[in-house]
Amino acid sequence: MPTENTAGPQRVVIVGSGFAGFTCARKLCRLLAQGDRDVEVVLVTPTDYMLYTPLLPDVAGGLIDPRFVVISLADALPRVRLVVAKAESIDLQRKTITVTSDYHAPRELSWDRLVLTPGSVTRLFDVPGLAEHARGLKTVAEALYLREQMLRQLELADHEDDPQVRRARRTVVVVGASYAGTELVAQLRALADAYAHRRGFDPGEIRFVLLDMADRVMPEVGEKLGDKVLTVLRGRGIDIRLKTSLKELTDSHVVLTDDSVVPTHTVAWVTGVTGAPLLQTLDLPMERGRLVVDANLGVPGHPDVFAGGDAAAVPDLTVPGKITPPTAQHATRQGKALARNVAASLGIGHAAPYKHRDMGLVVDLGPGFAVANPLGVHMSGLLAKAVTRAYHTFAVPRGLNRWAITVTYATNLVTPRPLTLLGLVSPEESSFVGSEGIPSKR
Ligand SMILES: Cc1cc2nc3c(=O)[nH]c(=O)nc-3n(C[C@H](O)[C@H](O)[C@H](O)COP(=O)(O)OP(=O)(O)OC[C@H]3O[C@@H](n4cnc5c(N)ncnc54)[C@H](O)[C@@H]3O)c2cc1C
Repeated sequence: MPTENTAGPQRVVIVGSGFAGFTCARKLCRLLAQGDRDVEVVLVTPTDYMLYTPLLPDVAGGLIDPRFVVISLADALPRVRLVVAKAESIDLQRKTITVTSDYHAPRELSWDRLVLTPGSVTRLFDVPGLAEHARGLKTVAEALYLREQMLRQLELADHEDDPQVRRARRTVVVVGASYAGTELVAQLRALADAYAHRRGFDPGEIRFVLLDMADRVMPEVGEKLGDKVLTVLRGRGIDIRLKTSLKELTDSHVVLTDDSVVPTHTVAWVTGVTGAPLLQTLDLPMERGRLVVDANLGVPGHPDVFAGGDAAAVPDLTVPGKITPPTAQHATRQGKALARNVAASLGIGHAAPYKHRDMGLVVDLGPGFAVANPLGVHMSGLLAKAVTRAYHTFAVPRGLNRWAITVTYATNLVTPRPLTLLGLVSPEESSFVGSEGIPSKR
């Protein structure tokens, strides 16, 4: 296997171009330039973009074009050397990383500092049929597939004479009522409503079921806002069943944990995340599927290895004894802390522990409604909608994307959502294996 050696400048290899890896790469380049240091920054990532995941429900709901939620790394990180490939294995002793891709043979890269930010994947449970018949919402492929699967089933239902088959095709099941699943069900509902209006039938004929094992929706936003969400979504005809999940899935129905059967062909599984599969190969201590790190985001016993974001169990210094939750908010700030501490390890500036108080959450729930609790101020309705959209538009880390998203939101005020099917994503490409790289159990 070819190995690239660093006879010249030192090399920092960052694995993963999500919120943490992208932010780390960007800030590290600035710090190195300020320190006038010749250090090569290499970003290993299977995609040539950074994905702004909080807007994936809008992509699934046909509101936003997928190109607008991905940030081109070549454009945004001109000083970084991009290696568009997957990190397959890491040798912590020899300080090498092996990368693979469909387009070239495996390659080995050496590193002086390693930053592990491979994020997370959908947490799957041992539910028969889950991997085959459900889709997650962590990637563009999954979001696009869910949108097209629902629309395709709605079209098939229009030509179906058997009322039971028609009802199954007009049923969507979403599992997971934390913010991502709840946003997804709200956006799919809005898309389904647009379809029904265009085709001239009662939107109530399209059934949505939202399930969660918890006894409330969106515990992240507190009881009062959670109750409001429950009322609004139930008012839109979404059948929300708490303390309930899936027991089994087939290609034509799901069985719930209360043994009831729901005929459907469209199932989304958005029940939470666990650390990326790469972490399992490292033989390092883990906590809740995430890599154990110290408050400076260093991996104990490996002074040249750092980790952050969803992949790392970062001590939450604002809530002693806890680790920071897997959110973009923490991943972005940890990306900055990673850059600072890696630079310090190279002799530029000083290391500091990661400490960040949670700023709250903004949750867009489809037409005219959102909830948000920025800095502990609880709000809902149109005010929360404005705050939510402003926040996301501002937080997307590239001007061109911000502009496209703003124009889309404005256009959407006066035009209906597009209902076209492009059929670009196959069932295999959108599966948990094909899309998220979760190893198949069989
Ligand atoms: C639908 C949805 C909505 C969300 N909404 C919000 C929100 O509103 N607010 C909020 O704060 N958080 C939100 N989150 C959570 C947020 O997306 C995550 O916390 C955040 O993405 C974590 O960032 P990260 O950089 O750690 O990982 P990720 O963003 O998951 O990025 C990981 C990167 O590593 C790459 N990678 C993985 N394995 C390898 C490998 N072997 N080799 C090379 N590269 C690899 C991936 O391709 C990716 O580029 C949402 C998540 C989802 C799914």
